[in-house]
Amino acid sequence: MNTLIKLTNLKKVFATDEVETHALSEINLDIKQGEYVSISGPSGCGKSTLLSILGLLDTCSGGSFELNGHQVAGLDHKQRAYIRNKEIGFVFQSFNLISDLTVEENVTLPLTYRKDLSKAERKQMALAALEKVDMSHRAKHYPAQLSGGQQQRVAVARAIVGNPSIILADEPTGNLDSKNAELVMALLDKLHAEGTTICMVTHDPRGAKRAERIVEVFDGRIVGDTETHVAVA
Ligand code: ADP
Ligand code: MG
Repeated sequence: MNTLIKLTNLKKVFATDEVETHALSEINLDIKQGEYVSISGPSGCGKSTLLSILGLLDTCSGGSFELNGHQVAGLDHKQRAYIRNKEIGFVFQSFNLISDLTVEENVTLPLTYRKDLSKAERKQMALAALEKVDMSHRAKHYPAQLSGGQQQRVAVARAIVGNPSIILADEPTGNLDSKNAELVMALLDKLHAEGTTICMVTHDPRGAKRAERIVEVFDGRIVGDTETHVAVA
């Protein structure tokens, strides 16, 4: 399988006038297309920072990040936004839906940058994504009118609407009851079975159990990288 993500000696330093936080140091990590990777480690060890960099939401302070064979550091702001919206789907613990947009408008948002798509195509893709998470009947509702589990399903629809190569999920079940957590995990399973690469930070044993590989982070460094079982071809 192709290597989708290649991090070499990557580091991230947050610096203020008083303190320098080495959030990530000497990170070497390859993720191949189609893998299901779980990232674990104690609070504050750098998991979200790593995911934000992988999702092009933040930049690294050193080292190299290749996405699909291209150096991310060489991209300008517009190219980053384009790739982020086309290749990467992000799911957050706190859903992060925009409260004054409807469900359908939220899901259409990542397609805004896709000048290759007509308005009708965008709408069709948004409704298809909502169909996949069984939320098309709520297309005209606002996030506040939905339960947490429903909001997270809409967030998953937003993440998959552009058919991304990779889904990055940062504790996606952290704010959900067990029934909705199971639903979201099952959705990620389905996407993985369809070929989507998944990289998920989770404390949820349901998620860790499903991953094929567990990457363990401690104090900003990778201290473990274990295959849990051989993927079914
Ligand atoms: P985790 O997700 O594993 O709990 P984070 O990636 O959120 O950990 O944080 C890693 C370290 O980087 C922590 O020490 C945190 O305080 C620090 N950090 C994260 N984001 C910022 C930021 N924007 N500015 C300064 N420090 C930050
Ligand atoms: Mg975090």
